[in-house]
Amino acid sequence: MSKDNFLEVRGLKKYFDADRPSFFSREPRYVHAVDGIDFQLRHSEVIALVGESGCGKSTLALLLMGLEEPTEGAILFEGRDITHLNDNERKGLRRKIQMIFQDPYESLNPTQTIEEIINEPLVVHGIGNNKNERDERVKKAMEDSGLKPAEVYLQRFPHELSGGQRQRVVIAAALVLEPEILLADEPVSMLDVSIRAEIINLLAELRITRQIAVIFITHDLGSVGFFADRVAVMYLGRIVEIGTMLEVLEKPQHPYTKALISVIPVPNPRLRHERIILQGETPNPIDLPSGCRFHPRCPLAMATCKASDPPFITLSKTHQAACLLLVK
Ligand code: SF4
Repeated sequence: MSKDNFLEVRGLKKYFDADRPSFFSREPRYVHAVDGIDFQLRHSEVIALVGESGCGKSTLALLLMGLEEPTEGAILFEGRDITHLNDNERKGLRRKIQMIFQDPYESLNPTQTIEEIINEPLVVHGIGNNKNERDERVKKAMEDSGLKPAEVYLQRFPHELSGGQRQRVVIAAALVLEPEILLADEPVSMLDVSIRAEIINLLAELRITRQIAVIFITHDLGSVGFFADRVAVMYLGRIVEIGTMLEVLEKPQHPYTKALISVIPVPNPRLRHERIILQGETPNPIDLPSGCRFHPRCPLAMATCKASDPPFITLSKTHQAACLLLVK
């Protein structure tokens, strides 16, 4: 298996049923949450999936975890099609792909001790021949997550920990299964600014020490600057630009990416860009605009943008000057 097709997503779509506009309406309507996504994740690579809330990035994470059934498309892991698995097959896969949720307050059971929380995945997956073996794995996962010495935290309850420590518990409960991919859905957005860098540093370290690939989902492009290898920018259910972190930050091609980058706070006033403030709201994912779905907000939109949806890989020559989408 090539390193490049470790995880592969092909033409993935997820449409949810939407309410009909009136009782007499016959046409079914759909929310186009994820609308044709293609990308590959390499071994121990970090991809940042960036976009405004409602762009479909969290739905994409749920599809990758098998918590939502795709409408169309395929997901391949280590060359195997994992798009539609039964419960048993899915359980085996969960060991390899683990998710870290946004809210460390809600994702921990308040009645369990930290030891019970981190041990539970081992019990569910039948890992470890005896209690000693499981205890060792729990302690290792805790210490690798920065909860050291583990003995200090084992018998505590979630409410006795800070927000950052709770997120470390969530990470330890994922690590204890020794996954190959971590799907981190806005893992720092509920934390104090001072703690965010610590958790991002921890994920960066784990990627090296444990060779884990990370899909880091965020609305804040500024938070992943030094950490991600590649960035995929999502808008209304699609990836509009993907490239290495340096390419995207230094030479963004898509007008939407340019707008996102222009509002990243830069401490040095001499390095500040002109801020691009997009007009209007993100369109309704039920009634998508015709042509390029970004055209109602695009500062570079032309008449043709309303008529035709540019292909992802190459755009027509007239568009190239304004908006050349990168595909790596
Ligand atoms: Fe803007 Fe047109 Fe490019 Fe869409 S196709 S991003 S509207 S320039």
